[in-house]
Amino acid sequence: MISAFPPSDAIHAVVLPVPGFGNLLTSNIYVLGTGPVTLIDTGPKFPGAFENIEKQLHEIGFGFQDIERIILTHGHIDHFGLARKIIEAAGRSIPCHLHRDDIWRTSGEYIRYGFWSDEVLEFTRMAGMPRDAVERMKRRSAFYKNFCDPLDGEGIPMDEGDTFSGPGFEIRVVHTPGHSPGSCCLYETGSRVLFSGDHIIKHITPNPIMEIHRSLLSDPGYQSLISYEASLEKVERLDIRYAFSGHGEYIDDVPGLLSRYREHHESRKRQILHHILDIDQPISHLVEDLFPDIPESEIFLAVSEIYAHLEVLISEGRARMSTEGPPALFRASGVQPASAG
Ligand SMILES: [Zn+2]
Repeated sequence: MISAFPPSDAIHAVVLPVPGFGNLLTSNIYVLGTGPVTLIDTGPKFPGAFENIEKQLHEIGFGFQDIERIILTHGHIDHFGLARKIIEAAGRSIPCHLHRDDIWRTSGEYIRYGFWSDEVLEFTRMAGMPRDAVERMKRRSAFYKNFCDPLDGEGIPMDEGDTFSGPGFEIRVVHTPGHSPGSCCLYETGSRVLFSGDHIIKHITPNPIMEIHRSLLSDPGYQSLISYEASLEKVERLDIRYAFSGHGEYIDDVPGLLSRYREHHESRKRQILHHILDIDQPISHLVEDLFPDIPESEIFLAVSEIYAHLEVLISEGRARMSTEGPPALFRASGVQPASAG
């Protein structure tokens, strides 16, 4: 049984099972304060999830009417999906804060049209993806829309360094882009606890999801894995006793976990280089080589992971991308370390 973290007076976890949602195990919501309370994330609009939150809140002595504010670690549906329903249940407006770079992601317009847009189709052509894989990706994106209600107008922009406090806690916003451009961690200064969203997760290496919707970004040069690694360094400078993440168990050895992430990134880069040594390859071939038998739910994440690592290899001068196509072709270049391959 997953327990999100050891008990504390002013920090409680509401843990939701998320079966069939990749290998996330749980979606974790955190309740801060002794009343009124602050909610960190809301979980997805999964069948039964809303009632489950209500029951777990009740067990710790609260109801939706006791929520003073909601803070979203980022704009992914499994983190903001139930925000609107919770606000409606409270019967009054509740401020809902998230980083300005992810607000557009929670809008009705993006959820209706952006999940599958011309930009996405253009990207699948660039990646050289076969028609059946594109169809499977499209089906999946339609499926995801079911798990959230949009936040139109409710999202209040928050920024690096903003603080929120209440009875028994004070948290500071640490902007940690990479998993998404507006991903944030929240650092509780008194207990040295980091609410790490999807930036740091114990049982999986978080995906630095590539950003297809370039036109919506405040930084048009954003590259997900490069930003993600810089954000890991930012977290490394904090004095952290526990990290409480958006999914799975709490973490008590953040430095150890970060070094495992870095090993994972290096080994993935070596794997990719091995497949593009002396040969031009589109992303679709690399997906087949590295992730044979990929389930439908994971195709986009696999493409994203490879693309993000290729961006780093290019920035390091270890790979190059052809300007012809589509599809874009990638090939190792420059001096490769002896261990490559
Ligand atoms: Zn996420």
